[in-house]
Amino acid sequence: MVKLMDEVESVQNENWIGVWGANWVLAGCASCNGVFVLPSEKVSQRCPLCGQTALAQMNPAEDRPIYTQPPELVVPFRAAENQLRASVRQFAKSLWLAPADLSENTLLGRLQPVYLPMWLVDAQVQGEWQAEMGFDYEIVSHREQFQNSDWQTERVKEKRVRWEQRIGRLDRQYDNQAAPALEEHSQVEAKIGRFDCKAPKPFHPGDLDGAVIHLPNRPPEDAWNEAVVGLQTAVAQDCRLACEADHSRGFKWSPRFTNQQWTQLLLPLYTSYYLDDDNRAQMVLLHGQTGQLHGAKRASMKRAQRVAGMIAVVAAVFLLLTLALLALGFTMAEEVLAWAGVTGVLTVGVGGTAVIPLVYAWTINSTAKE
Ligand SMILES: [Zn+2]
Repeated sequence: MVKLMDEVESVQNENWIGVWGANWVLAGCASCNGVFVLPSEKVSQRCPLCGQTALAQMNPAEDRPIYTQPPELVVPFRAAENQLRASVRQFAKSLWLAPADLSENTLLGRLQPVYLPMWLVDAQVQGEWQAEMGFDYEIVSHREQFQNSDWQTERVKEKRVRWEQRIGRLDRQYDNQAAPALEEHSQVEAKIGRFDCKAPKPFHPGDLDGAVIHLPNRPPEDAWNEAVVGLQTAVAQDCRLACEADHSRGFKWSPRFTNQQWTQLLLPLYTSYYLDDDNRAQMVLLHGQTGQLHGAKRASMKRAQRVAGMIAVVAAVFLLLTLALLALGFTMAEEVLAWAGVTGVLTVGVGGTAVIPLVYAWTINSTAKE
């Protein structure tokens, strides 16, 4: 009987990806170690998160990821198409001496919808707490002033806070406390802004329409500490409201958590990339709700060298002209020497600007490293 149960479980383990829906495959990135579930036709594409290598198909039974359950909820993409276009256009135009591959059309053509996982946890919280609660109050004083040969009395209101020590007990259910299911989550949010986890919809694999799903790389056990930080903020706020206080400080508690229920939620992100001079992918991320864009900025040193070369040619023409005018001035017509002075200044001026594109490209590439 035990053996039979083991067999049933192992068949379920091997078929875990079948639960997601038909035609889904597992693929991983050797560069960022990202593991994705995606439609089979997208399997050999570039990694949608780091762009550095092509994804490699994995065997769902042998290369079992740390968490394989399908998500329960999904936050839909809602950034308007014209807004995405405008963000991409602005980014493509913002770089002088951009690599040849960076254009509005290539970025839009490579736009890939990606879902990032997030945990939502519900928990029953019990325990004792203590904090200082602050209550606003006003004092009114009177100030005498000698004005217009008379004493005037002015009422002055002043705001103060009265602090009182409070202790209490708590027994309450907290729902939907968010905690990242990806190590990279805070880096993504630092670039494109926070996601709004409100108003999610139930997850149906059929609705995903070509999107790639990043599997969690932080299981609930790892994410729990962050959830507790969020819970403490929520509890401290509730205790303050229960005391009808205006402020609180020095919150301490000794909580016990029971009945934790974890839900996996997907968050919408678009990614795209362009290739730099060294054929390395530079990633562009767009927030799936707000359209906020973050792109790695690289200039093309090859283009900078071409522009510098053209400027140098112009400077060389002025130099030759200066030398010719000098020769003419010393041998035949002295009045030409003034013109030689003008072209000499132009030679130095134009020649000096040849370094600008090189310095610009070098500065962009060395300061914009991620
Ligand atoms: Zn990757």
